[in-house]
Amino acid sequence: MQGPLTYALREFAEGVSTRREEVVARELDILADGVEVLGPVCVTLEVARAGEEFRIRGEAELTVRQPCVSCLDPVELNLRAAITVLARMLKARENEGEGPPDGVLYHDGERFSLADEVRQSLLVEIPPHPLCAADCRGLCPRCGANRNRAACTCDASAAGDPRWAQLRSLAEVPEGAAEDRKQQPDRQTERNEPTG
Ligand SMILES: [Zn+2]
Ligand SMILES: [Zn+2]
Repeated sequence: MQGPLTYALREFAEGVSTRREEVVARELDILADGVEVLGPVCVTLEVARAGEEFRIRGEAELTVRQPCVSCLDPVELNLRAAITVLARMLKARENEGEGPPDGVLYHDGERFSLADEVRQSLLVEIPPHPLCAADCRGLCPRCGANRNRAACTCDASAAGDPRWAQLRSLAEVPEGAAEDRKQQPDRQTERNEPTG
């Protein structure tokens, strides 16, 4: 069985052809931590064939859902990746033991696969630090409320920054506090004196 996005060379006549595919994301191994894939990968391609050479240009699209790094709300993103590949025959003694240069893939005279190209180009489009909105207000560090939805009362109740209030209470040592120190009680030695 052929993998996804694998094409036989004979499918393409000389000149330009177009293809549109929908591939289940799982079949392309599109996996990233904390990223939920929604729906298929949609691929549109324009393939220009000149003999054994195929110039491929197109676009891959995928919708993913990730938690906002600031407020943890789910964020849906439409990933769009441009695909630009030259598929050509690997000639004997060329690039022995090396992979093809960037943007080039070798075919075997029978078929080529765009799966790696599409997978890689979509993975790099996944933002490492997604935000639900540029001005996401995040979670309140004190009560955990989502400040995009409601203003919590933490800011109003604390006069100024709560951290400064804590520092102030440390600096203001109440009078008499020094004398509060526990006095070492005199050690009372117990003697069992005979009571006669
Ligand atoms: Zn957010
Ligand atoms: Zn709060």
